[in-house]
Amino acid sequence: MKLSHLAFIATISTAVCLSTISQAVTLVAVDVGHTLEKPGATSARGETEFNFNRAMAEKVGQALLAVGFTAKPVGEDGKMKDLQARTDAVAQADFFLSIHHDSMQPQYLSEWVYNGKTLAYGDRFSGFSLFVSRKNAHLPASLKCASTIGRALIHAGFKPSRHHAEPILGENRPFADKPNGVHYYDDLVVLKTAHQPAVLMETGIIVNRGDELMLRETATREKIAKAVASALAVCLAKPAG
Ligand SMILES: [Zn+2]
Repeated sequence: MKLSHLAFIATISTAVCLSTISQAVTLVAVDVGHTLEKPGATSARGETEFNFNRAMAEKVGQALLAVGFTAKPVGEDGKMKDLQARTDAVAQADFFLSIHHDSMQPQYLSEWVYNGKTLAYGDRFSGFSLFVSRKNAHLPASLKCASTIGRALIHAGFKPSRHHAEPILGENRPFADKPNGVHYYDDLVVLKTAHQPAVLMETGIIVNRGDELMLRETATREKIAKAVASALAVCLAKPAG
């Protein structure tokens, strides 16, 4: 575009331009849970949660671009040990999504031998869980997006596990939205220190042998990513004008 045209537009529609600037492209921080050194859960077949998280985050990033958002990965090099450094690194983002994969309490785990290795597995629970913190400064917006993500995942054929609400040691995470698999987990550091609405997604349960096989498929990751991105496109939609 020629400079004279830009000057013309600036002259006739300063207000419109300013409004466009203030509604820049929505930026979603996509946090890859855990680190290479402390990689979180171990799947039923011995893969690290960090690797699952990174693969899922990459697909979510691509799906966010496809709905017109910008995605900024956090901790994708596996070296970000300080949790608050993660949220501080993306203070300017519009939304913070932390991606994890789930396990279950030790009493539900058994052992089996896979590829010559003795590993823990648990098939009792299956499905996704979503978390929000009541200590996040933007709880209503966090909850709105968590519910929208849960609804989209259910619509895409996935189901909430709901096992984190069990009244047992290590769980007891009350429901914020039971039908859509959303719990309160107030002291999760990335949720309470996020500078914007924030949701943590346990994508599925990788100690469950069936869930693990499904979750490592590219097609499954893409389906989940698409559901998440389409949900965020709805809950983060800015009013026109
Ligand atoms: Zn995790």
